[in-house]
Amino acid sequence: MALPEGFVRVPITEQDPKVRAGNFEEVCLGYTDEEAVLEASRCLNCKKPMCVEGCPVRVNIPGFIEALKGGNIEESYSRLSACTALPAVCGRVCPQETQCESKCIRGIKGDAVAIGKLERYVADKARSLGMKPVVTAAPNGHKVAVIGSGPAGLTCAGDLARLGYDVTVFEALHEAGGVLTYGIPEFRLPKEKVVRPEVENIRSLGVKIETNVIVGKSVTIDQLMEDEGFEAVFIGSGAGLPMFMNIPGENAKGVFSANEFLTRNNLMKAFRDDSDTPIYRPARVAVVGGGNVAMDAARTALRLGSSVTIIYRRSEAELPARAEEVHHAREEGIVFEMLTNPVEILTNDDKFVRAIKCVRMELGEPDQSGRRRPVPVEGSEFEIETDAVIMALGTSPNPMLSSATPGLEINKRRCIIAEETTGKTSREGVYAGGDAVSGAATVILAMGAGKDAAAAIDEYIRLKRTNL
Ligand SMILES: Cc1cc2nc3c(=O)[nH]c(=O)nc-3n(C[C@H](O)[C@H](O)[C@H](O)COP(=O)(O)OP(=O)(O)OC[C@H]3O[C@@H](n4cnc5c(N)ncnc54)[C@H](O)[C@@H]3O)c2cc1C
Repeated sequence: MALPEGFVRVPITEQDPKVRAGNFEEVCLGYTDEEAVLEASRCLNCKKPMCVEGCPVRVNIPGFIEALKGGNIEESYSRLSACTALPAVCGRVCPQETQCESKCIRGIKGDAVAIGKLERYVADKARSLGMKPVVTAAPNGHKVAVIGSGPAGLTCAGDLARLGYDVTVFEALHEAGGVLTYGIPEFRLPKEKVVRPEVENIRSLGVKIETNVIVGKSVTIDQLMEDEGFEAVFIGSGAGLPMFMNIPGENAKGVFSANEFLTRNNLMKAFRDDSDTPIYRPARVAVVGGGNVAMDAARTALRLGSSVTIIYRRSEAELPARAEEVHHAREEGIVFEMLTNPVEILTNDDKFVRAIKCVRMELGEPDQSGRRRPVPVEGSEFEIETDAVIMALGTSPNPMLSSATPGLEINKRRCIIAEETTGKTSREGVYAGGDAVSGAATVILAMGAGKDAAAAIDEYIRLKRTNL
């Protein structure tokens, strides 16, 4: 039986799958003014808003939606931007279905309010009207260094700047944004329209961003603190080191990590016809993995003209990627080989990939993660012909920074050890958060860690000042 009006979400326009499979334009086209106000009017403005509980940065969701209902964009944006530095980003890439929207009371009898799509609408509208986040405190003269300009670093920097700190972000790459810039593709997160303006908003709070600085190589944390007068440091250096399977043939020509493949496209703009950094465009590509990174690599390869197969060792139910991304990938024509695991990459005489040898899997008992462990089915080997293989198996933090920082403790997974609620590390005055601490996770969790660390750094510096 169809749900009555008000119980159903206002539909959003998307590019036709057949058309978008051949371009890098954004898939989702966003709400119009009328659609956004209509969808906002479905929010019940609950006295105890559970959606806020579901958000790791506790965005004032009913507050910004209430202002939007009356068409007051200025107020809506002011409430939103007081809680988050990256609303246009989060509105596009956050897994709302398992966070804020999963707690929405509307979801009990119908569709949850489209909180993510409304957040995106308000942020985009505010940008088109030239609105900026507001600085709240006068400069206090205290210097803090932030390492890495991903969501963790940018959030920490923005929050500290709002409190009056003199903040400098040091970024290894030539452009700020972390994974938002080099990892997530244009068709999900446009750089010129969305990422750069949000980075500029953080600069407009007074944050300085120095690119092409590799902390641990160009300069050390000790030098920043002892010679350059930074009283505290936040490490938000992410988890950018790709993992491989260590199977025979993995060093063949035509095997890439998803990180390299996506960085060449997104940061180096290899997808553009006028790009001077070429990229391999084979007829067939096999992508190994089932997370967001695998979906992004597969959908990028498809747009570059390849036919694409995703190989995943568990079943559909365990796919870690967002349901929306899997749905979009299927709509665009990507083939999924589930319960399948590669065992060898086969090459031709020139050492180019020609096929990937796989084995069928079945699900056994649950492992430590609670998911059923995939077990190989004996005698089930088969080959998938392909010209390239992209490994999207996860990443870990690069140990370069921790090994150049005496006294900074890391765990077996090379993640920095830091207190959960403050980001405090084993080094005095040094805080850390985001993927560098948790291992590969999500944008909003990285932002939450940056926010918590900013509050802890403020407390640390205030305490130090009173004790002087
Ligand atoms: C392809 C891809 C798709 C994803 N899709 C989603 C999604 O849809 N939704 C979602 O929520 N999450 C997604 N994620 C995960 C999410 O992007 C990350 O969890 C998040 O970006 C982590 O933020 P961070 O600030 O900790 O690190 P990062 O974003 O990795 O930023 C770290 C920054 O630090 C810099 N750096 C590293 N070392 C140094 C150094 N020594 N000196 C100076 N700078 C340094 C790096 O160059 C980088 O710019 C995706 C990840 C990838 C790779």
